[in-house]
Amino acid sequence: MSISKQCEAQKQLSQLRSQFLKRLPIELNSLKAIAENLNERGFDIATLNELHHRLHKLSGSCGTFGVPALGQATRILEIRLQAWIEDSSVEIDDKARQSIVRDIGALNSVIRTPENHSAATLTMTPDLPSDKTIRVWLIEDDAAFEQELVRQLESFNFQVHFFNSIRDAETAAQFERPDLLIMNVLLHRPSEQDSILLQDRITLKSLDCPLLFVSSTDDFNSRVRAARLGAEGYFVKPVDITVLINRMMQVLEKRRAPPQRVLIIDDDRDLAAHYQLVLTVAGMQAEVLQQPEVVMTKIANFRPEIILLDLHMPNFTGIDLAGVIRQYDEWSGLPIVFLSSESDFDIQILAMGQGADDFLMKPISDAQLIAATRARIERARRLTSLIAKDSLTGLLKHASIKEAADLETAQAQRNSKPVSIAMLDIDNFKLVNDTYGHAVGDNVIVSLAMLLRQRLRHSDIIGRYGGEEFAAVLPECDQADAYRLLDDIRNQFANIRFRHRSHQFNCTVSIGLADSAHFPRLIGTELLAIADHALYQAKREGRNRTCIARTIV
Ligand code: GH3
Ligand code: MG
Ligand code: MG
Repeated sequence: MSISKQCEAQKQLSQLRSQFLKRLPIELNSLKAIAENLNERGFDIATLNELHHRLHKLSGSCGTFGVPALGQATRILEIRLQAWIEDSSVEIDDKARQSIVRDIGALNSVIRTPENHSAATLTMTPDLPSDKTIRVWLIEDDAAFEQELVRQLESFNFQVHFFNSIRDAETAAQFERPDLLIMNVLLHRPSEQDSILLQDRITLKSLDCPLLFVSSTDDFNSRVRAARLGAEGYFVKPVDITVLINRMMQVLEKRRAPPQRVLIIDDDRDLAAHYQLVLTVAGMQAEVLQQPEVVMTKIANFRPEIILLDLHMPNFTGIDLAGVIRQYDEWSGLPIVFLSSESDFDIQILAMGQGADDFLMKPISDAQLIAATRARIERARRLTSLIAKDSLTGLLKHASIKEAADLETAQAQRNSKPVSIAMLDIDNFKLVNDTYGHAVGDNVIVSLAMLLRQRLRHSDIIGRYGGEEFAAVLPECDQADAYRLLDDIRNQFANIRFRHRSHQFNCTVSIGLADSAHFPRLIGTELLAIADHALYQAKREGRNRTCIARTIV
């Protein structure tokens, strides 16, 4: 999200807050009037419910909008009313009635100047453009190592800039920013913590990108210093390049991940709007639903990754909604978190029984809301990826890639767009395993996976089809473009130099390609089979080449 959008959302947040504070005296007066009126006529259950609902709403929103003392006062009243509502045998004597009417009337005096409202800690993660070359800055004072690393990184399609010192990088940062920073300076200086100058910290912070350290020493102090600078990795020389690149891809992909989608269901418009803004400023995509009746349509269209659900709403409770959502197989795993000021243990247990995953207590601070939502979605994403993705390469597994191939070809047919499918298999791979060992073989597999992830677009789908076999589905990519791209990847892969102790070696890959224009009636899995056939043709013709399937065999 851009800075201006962030400012705009911040402005809206404080507007919401002042609107709430402006309306507050009116709401309190209206509560007072209802209570006094009742005092004269005697309490009936419908009005008790009305009072309870309004107090409940207030107790949930006051904390959020900066008047926690009022939130607590309304909460106590809400609990007192609740006892009467739940147990009709409780006699409401005159004294109890007068006391509650008086306390409701006194709420006005509880409003104090809002305390310094703690706005959310709004740490923004800049979006990483998904389809461009990644700029890596290397700040390194070991020239020999630097040359080798630049060469290796470039063979994985990273654009590398090299700097001798952090000052040089600082100067360059006036014109361009890196997507990732690798450095070895700043760690080995004489004294302890103080060796990292404030200026250096500021520079690193202003570059605002993931940071990895490469160091010739592996002592605890250096690691602590790296951690304090926010390093997301620490590698000791000699560096295993595939391990380094694997980590680079991980940290970059964390930034590249699509925004988290949150659906907020709350009948309190102000509060829902507040949550929505807070989550939006934190970089999430948050939408609000106010009519529970259309919840399933909303879920199907928006595909939220979490639902924040209010417990008490008119007509339908949050528990009702959770029950409905859980009836649908497709959404049985969707995290549902209740956001409620409800502290009644039994109701919480009932809600859990209906498939709720957790309870967050209102009032919740902005920072807490962001952290809780983010952590739950990240966990849910990790789980999904564990099921669908191969652990060595992070690519889709066999079954998922087949499914994706069918989906994409169907979509392409509907939209009259091309789609290309490729199968890739590393040449003579058995020999690599036999000569250098299985672990080195694994490195080669990971390298090809990394290269594919680097070179293909974000919308392309890549899977590990088998041991050293890969499949790629390229939507909206015709045969000519697919050939150019894949054959270039093949060349690039052949140029990667692998290392095992003092040995160096290269590997090659063979590729088979099939596209929807030549086989318009075939579904994805059939195209995969045709591409596989073209792959075997490439093997027969001598390996290290790309063959295009032209006829069904
Ligand atoms: P070709 O050029 O014809 O493809 O020859 P090849 O040696 O690559 O083909 P083959 O299919 O005979 O051998 C593939 C080898 O890959 C056999 C298997 O032990 C190995 N392999 C499969 N999965 C893995 C893995 O996860 N890691 C490692 N290191 N090796 C694997
Ligand atoms: Mg092979
Ligand atoms: Mg094979």
